[in-house]
Amino acid sequence: MNFELSEEQLMIQKMARRFAEEKIAPIAEKSWEEEEFPYDLFAQMGELGLVGIPYPEEYNGGGMDVLTFALVLEELARIDNSVANSIMANSSCASLINNFGTTEHKEKYLAPILAGEKIGAIGLTEPNAGSDAAAIQTTAVLNGDEWIINGSKIFITNSGTDITWPVVIAAVTGTGEKKEISNFIVSSGTPGFNISKKFKKIGWRASDTRELSFDDCRIPAENLLGKRGEGLKQTLSTINTGRILIASMAVGLAQGVLDACLDYVKGRFAFGKPIGKFQTIQHKLADMATKTEIARVMVHKAAVLRDSGKPFSKEASMAKLFATEMAMEAAHQGIQIHGGYGIMTEYAVSRYFGDAKVLEIVEGTSEIQRTVIARQLGL
Ligand SMILES: Cc1cc2nc3c(=O)[nH]c(=O)nc-3n(C[C@H](O)[C@H](O)[C@H](O)COP(=O)(O)OP(=O)(O)OC[C@H]3O[C@@H](n4cnc5c(N)ncnc54)[C@H](O)[C@@H]3O)c2cc1C
Repeated sequence: MNFELSEEQLMIQKMARRFAEEKIAPIAEKSWEEEEFPYDLFAQMGELGLVGIPYPEEYNGGGMDVLTFALVLEELARIDNSVANSIMANSSCASLINNFGTTEHKEKYLAPILAGEKIGAIGLTEPNAGSDAAAIQTTAVLNGDEWIINGSKIFITNSGTDITWPVVIAAVTGTGEKKEISNFIVSSGTPGFNISKKFKKIGWRASDTRELSFDDCRIPAENLLGKRGEGLKQTLSTINTGRILIASMAVGLAQGVLDACLDYVKGRFAFGKPIGKFQTIQHKLADMATKTEIARVMVHKAAVLRDSGKPFSKEASMAKLFATEMAMEAAHQGIQIHGGYGIMTEYAVSRYFGDAKVLEIVEGTSEIQRTVIARQLGL
């Protein structure tokens, strides 16, 4: 067992930290207010190689492991969860194309979204199907050399930005004895693919979340991703890794809250001394630091298992469950420690509160993680 990061991992971690502090922190509050971050930042992160860490170098990826990617997302999320989430959702799209796409798909769609020139999205959730993903109703019907798609998707990250391009969506391709679900690459701009206005949110406010509808949307037959009927299996395999990455964002968020509180308690005076001198405040921060570290170790363990080709779905769910609930608690205590100032949006802790709540819902809710873990316990 070796808890030391490699030289390369430390270097990339440092680069991500510096980028987040120098480029993202100064605009985080504005992005939150305006509910959008400047997507030229995405291109800059692409140039630095932060967007495609675990993907092949021939398609503009970094050729590194998921642990290194988790380190990067932790650093970005420490400053702004929305930015980390945009990279994370882009990665879910990249992962599907990389694992199941043809060489042509990879050259056409994967390379630009790993370079940061374009941004990808993944559309599984529908108005009537979230946790129960197999209940989706969007259909794709093969007609000659085209698929005709009808239906809708909801809460889709990155789906309507100026640089959005491939959106990988799941659709029902057969309703015989067993419902058949397949994945498709749809380019934004395709006639019949309609992007609605952005949702207003209490968390991840600077990341783009929309409802999509498909109205006789025709795409080429070759845009089927991998094998027909394997869509759900493909997406679930991506989501397992996604759980590790969301957990790393939760660790980043909790670390961000801890850093902000450590700063604040030294400068805020009550009853003639800094509030950091009160044992109650000290113990809150000691608990926060301890639980953040536990979650970090869980994330790293799940990532290492995944990177070494071992089973990791139980550890990914455990890390996601623990880290996101821990981040919610950290955000809650962070505001408490800041008193009234913590409610004001100019203080980062207020923004982290809504972000922490989203983390408990996406990539499988806490209830679903407990179900996955219980199943692995043989229940
Ligand atoms: C900001 C944001 C961004 C998102 N981005 C994307 C995206 O890019 N792509 C995408 O496809 N989706 C995305 N989602 C959707 C997200 O994955 C779903 O919201 C999530 O899976 C939960 O589904 P739901 O909202 O339909 O809730 P539901 O599934 O309706 O769940 C409602 C409640 O019931 C509980 N519940 C459901 N089933 C069970 C069960 N079996 N046992 C116990 N409790 C249960 C849930 O835990 C939850 O508490 C995003 C969501 C948000 C909020």
